[in-house]
Amino acid sequence: KAAVEVVDLGKTYGSGPTAVRALKGISLGFAGGEFAAIMGPSGSGKSTLLHILGALEEPSSGRVVIGGTELSGLSDKKLTLLRRARMGFVFQAYNLIPTLTSEENVMLPVLISGEGTAKYEERLDELFSLVGLGKRRSHRPDELSGGEQQRVAIARALVRGPDLILADEPTGNLDSKTGAGVLDLLRESAARYGQTVVMVTHDARAAAVADRVVFLADGKVVDEAREPDADEIF
Ligand code: ADP
Ligand code: ADP
Repeated sequence: KAAVEVVDLGKTYGSGPTAVRALKGISLGFAGGEFAAIMGPSGSGKSTLLHILGALEEPSSGRVVIGGTELSGLSDKKLTLLRRARMGFVFQAYNLIPTLTSEENVMLPVLISGEGTAKYEERLDELFSLVGLGKRRSHRPDELSGGEQQRVAIARALVRGPDLILADEPTGNLDSKTGAGVLDLLRESAARYGQTVVMVTHDARAAAVADRVVFLADGKVVDEAREPDADEIF
């Protein structure tokens, strides 16, 4: 059974003659532990799909079911709680707080949730070792490289053990070696914790690492592949 499922998803922005149909009936299921890439030309609906999966935007039609819970019935308050408890977001702009250390940034979702921080001591050790930043826990973002900042953002996305990790161009502004490290990390986390990772990417190397690649064009799924073909991507 899919951990994350979208059924006949439609999204229209605006109305009347200027309406834009960003998604035109998308149905997809993602298993726990699956690392999926979404690719497609600019304007094909990738970000819209990612935002709807993250309950950051509402679909115009169709259903989103996450861990057996259908999102459409939930209040905004419940959606916010669901995002905080079960989802992790890795966006291209790392959104780290400049005045906080790596460790404080990673702990932010825990602080926001109101959960006690005490039980996170071991988890932090584990996470910082997973992202290879054991010696950078007290550094602030401006003392870290881009790749290190992205890894802090990933540790933050993982800290509460989300079921679903949504990543928007996670390797977008990283050199290829650092990008490869970030991808390994996402794949390792999915495999180790059975998390579903859905990543939007233009990066053929990123897609090559994914278990599965879904191609969108004009708001529809046009192809799926296990191994992306460079001719299709560019
Ligand atoms: P992608 O991420 O593949 O580039 P998007 O999901 O951002 O595609 O956009 C899909 C389509 O929806 C595009 O035509 C885009 O212009 C349109 N769109 C996206 N967001 C909005 C919005 N907030 N208002 C109006 N149109 C939008
Ligand atoms: P709230 O309703 O509490 O203001 P938001 O809707 O802004 O929450 O976001 C809910 C959660 O989604 C936040 O905890 C945040 O971590 C995450 N989130 C939302 N947008 C982004 C983003 N652009 N980058 C990273 N995380 C995001």
